[in-house]
Parts: sequence; structure tokens; C-alpha cells
Amino acid sequence: METTVICPGSFDPVTLGHIDIISRASKMFSYVIVAVLANPSKQNSSFSIDERIDLLVKSTENLENVEIVSFEGLLAEYAKKRNVTAIVKGLRAVSDFEYEFQMSLTNKILNPDLETIFLTAESKYMYLSSSMVKQVASLGGDIKGFVPDCVLDRIVERLSAK
Ligand code: ADP
Repeated sequence: METTVICPGSFDPVTLGHIDIISRASKMFSYVIVAVLANPSKQNSSFSIDERIDLLVKSTENLENVEIVSFEGLLAEYAKKRNVTAIVKGLRAVSDFEYEFQMSLTNKILNPDLETIFLTAESKYMYLSSSMVKQVASLGGDIKGFVPDCVLDRIVERLSAK
């Protein structure tokens, strides 16, 4: 069966934890749409939508069945528009669970055909988040090993320019 899935998120910026989920999804499903949430309410982001998309495109250029897009509004509606019936998310810890469970049930009410599939985070990326990357970089720490090598310099440069 041909299955397209959506991997949604803010990706502000992309981390190796995101890439792990995206590449595992690209092996499990025929097509993966990585959807960057572009809601105007999220004003406190560090990278613009275009920057986040560029970083994701560069980091996934070896994955043929992955598309990077941005979307506004409800994910449940975007999925309907793209004819997609499954979301793939990474689950890091118990702290992610409550929120993700609530989101998944809400999406199901908004779009009853939409399933949410959780992939367990790799143990080495359990701790990793975009905000952690930003915090370490802002304090002058080395973020190599947290973000893809091919975009490391761009992320460091951008975060140190703040
Ligand atoms: P964050 O800002 O917390 O890094 P996003 O909102 O950009 O994350 O997350 C997009 C998706 O990637 C979510 O499904 C999230 O659970 C998943 N994710 C983020 N970091 C990791 C990680 N280190 N390991 C596995 N999944 C992750």
C-alpha cells in the first residue's frame, strides 16, 4: 500500500532528533511530507520559515521521498487538503506524552480519518530539542553532534548573530 505521511513541527532549527524521525519515516512509508508550522501566533521563533525550510531541504537532500513544505492553520485541515491520513511524530519522554496524546485526540476529532503514529526517539537523541540547541549555542557551546553537519555552520552563524 502506498502511504504518505506528514511529519509536522516547528523545526526552529532542525536537529539530528528531527532527522532521525524523518529518515526512519522515509524508510517505512512511500512519501513523507515534512510540514513546518507557519502560524503567525508563534512570534518567538529564532529562524524565519524560509530559513527553516532551507535547512531542512539541505539536511534531507539524500532522502528521495521527502518533501519540505510550510503550512498555516490546522494540521488536520492541511492533511485533508493533501489527502494524507497519517501523522508521524517522535516521542522523546513521558513529558512529551500528555501533550502529544491530547493533540492526537484533537486531530482525530477534527479529521476522523487522521491517525497519529509515534516513533520512539533514539536514546542518544532523547534529550535533544531545538530550544536546547539554541540555549547551548547562545552560551557559546559547541552544537556539533546536535544538528546535521551540512547545516552546522549556518545555524551557528545565525545564532551567534542574535
Ligand atoms: P522541538 O521544538 O521540541 O525540537 P518540533 O516541534 O520541531 O520540536 O518537533 C517536530 C517533531 O519532531 C515532533 O514530533 C517531535 O516530537 C519530534 N522531535 C523533536 N526532537 C526530537 C528528538 N530529539 N527525537 C525524536 N523526535 C523528536
